[in-house]
Amino acid sequence: MPFSHTKVVGPAGRFGARYGMGVRRKVTQIEVKQRGKHRCPRCRALTRMERLAFGIWRCPKCGFTFAGGAWVPQTTLGKTMTPEELRLIELEKQKWKEKVKKKKE
Ligand SMILES: [Zn+2]
Repeated sequence: MPFSHTKVVGPAGRFGARYGMGVRRKVTQIEVKQRGKHRCPRCRALTRMERLAFGIWRCPKCGFTFAGGAWVPQTTLGKTMTPEELRLIELEKQKWKEKVKKKKE
């Protein structure tokens, strides 16, 4: 497949212009991958996990919420994340935590 320099951002397009093209391209690749089914750590159902936030997943079968890798339910952290990606993940996790905290109060 020839490499295209045209605007192929796919699902990462929603990130707008906030992040560099390199990150967005990588996000697109990973997000395409994560559309596959994953096994729930609790009920063991092979299903499409619902992503609540970066690194937070929910099993639609049993409702189990768990933390996994930021992009796919299996932990991919420590694989080949760039510092920008890690920062992005931390940012999203922070946002999610704050949202949860607000709900509880
Ligand atoms: Zn489950």
